Amino acid sequence: MNLSRVVESVPPSGIRRFFDIVSQMEDVISLGVGEPDFVTPWRIREAAIWAIEQGYTTYTSNYGLLELRQAIARTLDAQYGVEYSPTNEILVTVGVSEGLDLALRAILNPGDEVLIPEPCYVSYKPCTLFAGGVPVPVPGDPADGFAIRAAALEAAVTPRTRAILLNFPNNPTGATLRREEMARVAAVAERHDLWMISDEIYARLTYEGQHVCMAAIPGMQRRTILLNGFSKAYAMTGWRIAYAAGPAEVIGAMTKIHQYTMLCAPITAQMAALEALKNGDRDADEMVMQYDARRRLLVRGFNDIGLPCHMPEGAFYALPSIARTGLDSETFAEELLREERVAVVPGNAFGACGEGHVRCSYAASTAALEEALRRIERFVRRREGGAACAGTPARGARTHSAAVEGSMQ
Ligand code: PLP
Repeated sequence: MNLSRVVESVPPSGIRRFFDIVSQMEDVISLGVGEPDFVTPWRIREAAIWAIEQGYTTYTSNYGLLELRQAIARTLDAQYGVEYSPTNEILVTVGVSEGLDLALRAILNPGDEVLIPEPCYVSYKPCTLFAGGVPVPVPGDPADGFAIRAAALEAAVTPRTRAILLNFPNNPTGATLRREEMARVAAVAERHDLWMISDEIYARLTYEGQHVCMAAIPGMQRRTILLNGFSKAYAMTGWRIAYAAGPAEVIGAMTKIHQYTMLCAPITAQMAALEALKNGDRDADEMVMQYDARRRLLVRGFNDIGLPCHMPEGAFYALPSIARTGLDSETFAEELLREERVAVVPGNAFGACGEGHVRCSYAASTAALEEALRRIERFVRRREGGAACAGTPARGARTHSAAVEGSMQ
């Protein structure tokens, strides 16, 4: 039987493939998955248990529980100074994943183009295609830490461009967007009358400075579809709960699709999310502190090994360059997994410009990160075939490898 040509044309996720291999192997340190290693804080789990005990087992409003939407509106106002009406400008979704799909389907007509800075989260291009749109990658420059640049976006605008799809802090680079650059990007959207889909799921995981919400840039709220959720900040990936905020007209259109396809987000997850917003700050702050310490450890480790790595300012990913090994990112990831049982994701899974890099999540314990660094160093040294043929030894490489040889071999 025939299947949809669009669906058939999209390859399965590169991340999932590694996931499947990893699940068959023992003693693997996985830096592959973009998932907190923490369990959802107890008070949030307890709120869900209480909700079930009390018989909260029904559908909710299509928009989501009003009390949750009110809490979301208060949080957005308090954190970023942006005001949304809980009545018709906020929609509770099944993950940012659903919010992204709804946003694209609500605004695109067949053939409309969406500008997507790369490297980017693996869902952006497939979801654009599934919504009938045309993804237009705007590659970042590795020398520039893959920063999102307004001029590059502007150069990619055509009469068919309908939206810019941004994500910051970014998966996979960990880069954030400074207010000045954000204003320049916003000006491109203004000039060409584009929607701005702003995936800010990692906003709370910002380590340097304050996260600036795209909707807080003057003039942007009326063209921004803001996506955020609970998966990363509150370690709630399995609950599948998030929200979209935007002008009533687009939230209304998204709700129409959601109404017929999803009805509503699960009520237990909505009750848990409400507790997260009301009382989860301390737990979230504690996790952020731990990610921050791990971030420094991992990035220092990569630079010591000689795999140059920008310091990510948010999210929980590092994207070291593997150029000195001479391997492409898929070969690096496959051989590292086979030989040293460390799982990382090839950079090309996030767009062609991610080649020459691998994405490593630091949502893993300090002990796991330290052991992973030892294994990666051993792997890199072997690939260099003895430091002599690799030219200049990496900064700090000798002391680090001496320590590794002492302890591991
Ligand atoms: N957006 C980005 C940038 C992500 O990295 C992820 C998950 O890794 C998602 C969205 C999906 O989030 P959710 O669990 O809310 O569907």
